[in-house]
Amino acid sequence: MRTWRGEIPIRSLYTAGVAGQSFLEALKERGKLVGTRCDACRQVYVPSRLFCERCFAELTEEVEVKPEGRLASFTFCSVERDGSPLRRPLALALVQLDGATTFFLHRLLDVTEPSQVRIGARVKAVIKPKAKRKGSILDIEGFRLI
Ligand SMILES: [Zn+2]
Repeated sequence: MRTWRGEIPIRSLYTAGVAGQSFLEALKERGKLVGTRCDACRQVYVPSRLFCERCFAELTEEVEVKPEGRLASFTFCSVERDGSPLRRPLALALVQLDGATTFFLHRLLDVTEPSQVRIGARVKAVIKPKAKRKGSILDIEGFRLI
């Protein structure tokens, strides 16, 4: 990998948007995972979206999904963004939560090698206790095999 070191003095502010804010507030305040449903397409987006990605309908119906789901895929990262090796491989999970039609990417906890996991395995989101939640996607620690 070839990299160039340097600094660019840029400040930015990223907002979660209306739907993302709704998702993060439900996570922070209630410890729940919510999405939005498109009745026309029968899609349930988690995290919430403001518009359907298939038919562009405005999505106003919020739905709560369970924190459990099916592992649709996974991968392991062994290097940092700067190319340096990680101390331990980081497992990432692509999960279809029960009740959702979309996929959710997050950490896969307590897994250090591919032989410990299989596609289709049941997983559950580990949500931090309320006192430690900040309204961030990291209020979810990750998914754990169940
Ligand atoms: Zn739709």
